[in-house]
Amino acid sequence: MAGMKRKGAASVRKSTVEIMKEKAAARKKQIKKATANLKKAAKVRSTMLKKEREERKKLEAKLGPRKFSAADLKEFRELILGKRTEMLEELDTLKESMMDVTTGEYSAESSTYSLHMEQGTDAMEREKTFLFAARGSKFVSQLDDALVRIENGTYGLCRTCGLLVPKERLEAVPTAQTCAEYKNTGVPCERGKIAISLKKESE
Ligand SMILES: [Zn+2]
Repeated sequence: MAGMKRKGAASVRKSTVEIMKEKAAARKKQIKKATANLKKAAKVRSTMLKKEREERKKLEAKLGPRKFSAADLKEFRELILGKRTEMLEELDTLKESMMDVTTGEYSAESSTYSLHMEQGTDAMEREKTFLFAARGSKFVSQLDDALVRIENGTYGLCRTCGLLVPKERLEAVPTAQTCAEYKNTGVPCERGKIAISLKKESE
């Protein structure tokens, strides 16, 4: 009886060891399987990422360059400087016209100049001239900002989509900071939409 008991205990012990061994083996198998799955998933993911990167590259290429050539920038610089000089000259002329010829001071309400005209018309003319001058100096500062953008390499980039504004548009409006579509409709163009979604993805 005692021997059987011992044998029984031993067999129980043995089966426990066996169970543990089996469990260990099963776990090992599980780990192996999980590792294989992870590797497979990683491979799939890297293939997908690679594909995505390629797609992005293709799209980016379609969207065109993000900077004007040095020659283009030089042209824009000259265009802007020309417009700037032109406007400053116009502003000087305006200043002179606002100046009282006899006293060399800006004409005031009671100036002799106003005696030659009807009061109302005179005031209106003066207001128009001031408005024009204000618009002119704003334009000059916008041109200055454009020159800064040429210096820091951001000239011609649309503020909305980040794409290069078409050269023809900048030649017509060298201070433009958005594509014409966005300026006119408040909605980016199709290329712009692609660029914005690409930008969002990479953020
Ligand atoms: Zn744009």
